[in-house]
Amino acid sequence: MTHKTSTTQRSDRLFQEALRLMPGGVNSPVRAFKGVGGTPRFFQSAQGARMVDADGNDLLDYVGSWGVMLLGHNHPSIREAVAEALAAGTSFGAPGAGEVDIARRVIELVPGIEVVRMVNSGTEATMSAIRLARAATGRPTIIKFRGGYHGHGDAFLVEAGSGAATLGVPSSPGVPDDLAAHTLVAEYNDLASVEALFDGAPDRVGGVIVEPVSGNMGCVPPVPGFLEGLRALCDRHGAVLIFDEVMTGFRVAAGGAQARYGVTPDLTTLGKVIGGGLPVGAYGGREDLMRMIAPDGPVYQAGTLSGNPLAVAAGSAALAYIQDHPGLYDDLEALGARLGQGLLSITAELDIPAVWNQAGAMGSLFFSSEPVTDWASVSSSETDRFSGFFHGMLDRGVYLPPSAYEAWFWSAAHDDHDIETTLAAARAALKDTQAHA
Ligand code: PLP
Repeated sequence: MTHKTSTTQRSDRLFQEALRLMPGGVNSPVRAFKGVGGTPRFFQSAQGARMVDADGNDLLDYVGSWGVMLLGHNHPSIREAVAEALAAGTSFGAPGAGEVDIARRVIELVPGIEVVRMVNSGTEATMSAIRLARAATGRPTIIKFRGGYHGHGDAFLVEAGSGAATLGVPSSPGVPDDLAAHTLVAEYNDLASVEALFDGAPDRVGGVIVEPVSGNMGCVPPVPGFLEGLRALCDRHGAVLIFDEVMTGFRVAAGGAQARYGVTPDLTTLGKVIGGGLPVGAYGGREDLMRMIAPDGPVYQAGTLSGNPLAVAAGSAALAYIQDHPGLYDDLEALGARLGQGLLSITAELDIPAVWNQAGAMGSLFFSSEPVTDWASVSSSETDRFSGFFHGMLDRGVYLPPSAYEAWFWSAAHDDHDIETTLAAARAALKDTQAHA
C-alpha cells in the first residue's frame, strides 16, 4: 500500500519466535490480532500518548494498555512512586503503609466502597466478589449480561464479549456444565430480560454482575433507568448488585460509573487504572458484606502478592493524581467528544453509516446505522469494515484496539493535536475501506 511507510521486520521476526514459545505467540488472546488479521506489533517503549514498536515506529495509542493508562504512559509521578518503593524492597508478604494509603484513596473516591480488599487482577476481583455474593445470600446463581466480560473465571465464560467474541467462541471448553448452569445471561439495557430470569429462578439468584458501562462489546453506555432498575430488582429479590468497574472505575468519572450515574451497588470490582500500570485489582463494598471476608469472616480469599508494595505505590500515585486534578474528567470527556464528532462528520461525508458511543475516557466507533445499545446491535454492525479501518489506521501511525469489540481509550496525555492527527488518518483509512468495499 502506498501510504505504508513503516517497516515491521523486527515485530514479524519476534512474532514468529513467540508463536513457537507461547499459545498464539501472546500472553492474552486479543493481542494476537486474530480479530483483525495480520501480525501484531511488538513494543519496546511508551511515553505519554505514544508507543514505539520494535522497529522504531512511533504510534499514537488508543489501547492504553486496555484502559490502564488514564494518565498516559510512563507518567513521571507513577515512575517516581515506583522507584521510591523499589528502593525499599519488592515484596514483604506482610502489611505495609502503601496498602493503607491506597485503601483510603479507593474508599474516598468510590461511593459504594466502605471496605476494600486488594488483589492482583480484575479476574481475581470478580471471582472473589461472586463468591462473597453467593456466601452472603446462600444462593448459587448469578446473572450476567450477554457481551459482558468479567475476566476468565469459570463462572463468567458464558456469552463473554470481546476476547471470546473475537475468537468466535462465546464460551470455553473446560468449564463444567454444572458450573455454567449457575450463570444466567440477560440482555444488556433490557430490564425485562433480568426480571424474567429472577422470576424463573425464585430464591436462587445471589447476585447480578454488570459492567455499568459495557466496555467489552465496544463501548455501550446504560440507557436511562437501566442501572436504577437493576438496583430495584436486586433489592426486591434480595440479591447482591455487583458493578464490575474494572474498566469504568476511575475512567468514566473519578468515582466510576456509580458516581457518574448515581446508582450505588453492594459490591464493586476494580482493576486497570487502580494499578497505575502495575498488576492490581480490588473488590469492596458494603461493610457488612466485606466483613464476611477472611480473616474477619468465613469467606476465604487470599494472595501471596496482594497489596504488593510496588503495585500499590503505582496505584496510589495514579489515584493521587486523580484526586489532585478535579477538572480531569471534563477534559477527557471533551477530548473524546471532539474525536467522536470528527469521526462522525467524516463518515457522514463519505456516506458510511456510523455511531459513536462514549462515556468519559472510553468510546467506540461502530459501523452501523442504528443506535448500538446491546449485544444484538453490536453484532449487527459492520465488523468486517473495522479490520480494513484498523490496518489503515495502523499503517498511518494510529494504534486502535485490534478488535471491533473493544473500546478505545484515551488519556490525560492525549491533546487536540493528537485528535487532529487521528482524524486525518481516519479520513484516509475510511476512504480506503470504501475503495476496497
Ligand atoms: N472485568 C472487566 C469489565 C474487564 O474489562 C476485565 C478485563 O478486561 C476484567 C474484568 C478482567 O480483568 P483482568 O484482565 O485484570 O483479569
